[in-house]
Amino acid sequence: MKGVTILGATGSIGMSTLDVLRRHPERYRVVGLSANTEVERLAELCRMHHPQYAVMADARAAEQLRERLRKIDGGIEVLAGAAGLEIIAAHPDAAQVMAAIVGAAGLVPALAAVRAGKRLLLANKEALVMSGRIFMDEVRLHKAELLPVDSEHNAILQCLPILDGKALHELGVKRILLTASGGPFRAMPLEELHGVTPEQACAHPNWDMGRKISVDSATMMNKGLEVIEASWLFAVPPEQIQVVIHPQSVVHSMVEYVDGSILAQMGSPDMRTPIAYALAWPERIAAGVQRLNLFDVARLDFSAPDLVRFPCLRLAYEAMARGGTATTVLNAANEVAVQAFLDERLAFTAIPEVVEAALIEVPSRAASSLEVILDEDARARQWTQELIARRAA
Ligand code: NAD
Ligand code: MG
Repeated sequence: MKGVTILGATGSIGMSTLDVLRRHPERYRVVGLSANTEVERLAELCRMHHPQYAVMADARAAEQLRERLRKIDGGIEVLAGAAGLEIIAAHPDAAQVMAAIVGAAGLVPALAAVRAGKRLLLANKEALVMSGRIFMDEVRLHKAELLPVDSEHNAILQCLPILDGKALHELGVKRILLTASGGPFRAMPLEELHGVTPEQACAHPNWDMGRKISVDSATMMNKGLEVIEASWLFAVPPEQIQVVIHPQSVVHSMVEYVDGSILAQMGSPDMRTPIAYALAWPERIAAGVQRLNLFDVARLDFSAPDLVRFPCLRLAYEAMARGGTATTVLNAANEVAVQAFLDERLAFTAIPEVVEAALIEVPSRAASSLEVILDEDARARQWTQELIARRAA
């Protein structure tokens, strides 16, 4: 029986994780669940899954949750804030921790799980984009087990032999082919992109996701973040990662070998597959996913990405090439710009403009410590907020 903590339990990945766990009560039990401010939803999840701990990032919300849970038997302990997240991430009863908080807020709690030597199921790609080298060093130092949940990275893992500390080139890997659906605006006339609304941007054709990653998929910043994520996870330079537009979202990514073989992982676009794979690895467990019917799929299309339509993808490669805290700045500016777009304070096409300005204007430094990363994140956020306010004035 393995204990599992879910950071970001009320989100799209958190709920899918709980759905997989619920199917295997003999294998897993829930140790801790967390949310930001969604009291009702977390209370409901506590009633269903009876965790030992429930954490609200927001202190007032924690008080409200305590009130709601008073009536449930079983004594669920309610904790609050960063300290509470750290407690459930590092708790000795939790062998596995799902990192499914969205954005930079997920970095410190994910690192707490790494430092406690857990199996970390990493959905929060922003953590690696912000602090890749430090994060990977901590994984090695604390002998944590890092299993990617992002569907592409999970697919790549599935197409590799067990690494055993070997570098990919030693295994005969030539390139990684990272697939991307191209999002909802892949074929929209360029002059119409300016006017797209948050509702349109969040209506992804194949995947049902949180709002931030949905917008990232529409700008293709999501794929840019994933190139950076893959580069750190698998220790390959970005030049060896080719983004491939594949609108059907059936092939979740591929690995090309020196002998000419390309291995692909396919399946229905449902995050419960990579979640189940990461939970049970190296075993396999049922995930409740509808089987892929190849006769319904019928055909698979592949094409090269359009960097004019999707400047965010270019910006991600540029930030990675610059190194240091440039990817921290990229991530922070993007989070602020996406929130402004969702709040209807910024046009869709202004997202890459704002991120590019931040990359040029906010000086990057050597990413020498977590403190430097967090400081740079705060600085880039502030700078980007001010830029957006100036543009609106
Ligand atoms: P979501 O918005 O649906 O859920 C986010 C979760 O994080 C919620 O539980 C929320 O309460 C919590 N949260 C938000 N802000 C917080 C804060 N400041 N402090 C503490 N908790 C906070 O997001 P999602 O779609 O589930 O995505 C989660 C992460 O997984 C993201 O990093 C995303 O890029 C990644 N991911 C998601 C998918 C997907 O299909 N949804 C696929 C691949 C990767
Ligand atoms: Mg992905």
